[in-house]
Amino acid sequence: MSLNFCVLSSGSSGNCSVIWTDKTAILIDLGCSSKYLTENLDILGISPQKLEAVMITHAHMDHISASGFNFIAKNNIPICTHENVLKDISKKYGDKIEKCANITFSKNFELKDLAIESFDVHHKDRNISKTLGFTFFHFLNKRQYKIGYITDTGKICDKIIANLINTNILVIESNYNRMMLEASLRPYDNKAWILSDNGHLSNECAAMAVCKIKKLSTKADSLKYVFLAHISHHNNMQDLALKTAREIFSQNNINDIKLFTAKRKQKSPTIRIK
Ligand SMILES: [Zn+2]
Repeated sequence: MSLNFCVLSSGSSGNCSVIWTDKTAILIDLGCSSKYLTENLDILGISPQKLEAVMITHAHMDHISASGFNFIAKNNIPICTHENVLKDISKKYGDKIEKCANITFSKNFELKDLAIESFDVHHKDRNISKTLGFTFFHFLNKRQYKIGYITDTGKICDKIIANLINTNILVIESNYNRMMLEASLRPYDNKAWILSDNGHLSNECAAMAVCKIKKLSTKADSLKYVFLAHISHHNNMQDLALKTAREIFSQNNINDIKLFTAKRKQKSPTIRIK
């Protein structure tokens, strides 16, 4: 019996992760190509038939791609998301989504031996009306384990923190270094949106959020594994995101987190709890 987690790819070129147990598997987001998904799931030993659903955080193309649709249509895997996210996806992929089964939910539901909760995060623009964060729960050895998943948010509010308390594995956006973003040649409007409360999260804000969650958590193995995700290719560097997080953790006397960066088109190590 085990609970397993792997980031298949992270960043503006495509986001996708997979959680699997002995009984089931689910994808989170679908920003990779059908070929990439097929190859990497095969390496992990997960057959497409085992996939119960794909959870979608929001309708930006790096989280749900046309090629990803081909993968789920071919393998008959339902999309699972909030109805407003589904409406955003329909606007972009109308004919494709009509061919897929889909499940909408309000907040909490179960897929086999995984319980799932969703909550709002702060990420909107003129094309998307809603973005979700998720927590996944699984019972193993008479106790509950929790995975938190939050990419794409302009800020971390108290409600988000409350949802992520006592997560054993946390994926959190660490999108940009502020100086690199401000010095970049991006159009002013785009920079202003990234920096806004509905844009993306800086390295510092991500690390501070992890510290807050850690301080409020009551279980000894909370935040044992943290993935810094959605690291910008242009306005950040993997090493810089890690360095910033480690410095802020150290200032807060936190030294028991195994920290990873989630990379572009490169599978992360698999975290296996058993
Ligand atoms: Zn987005």
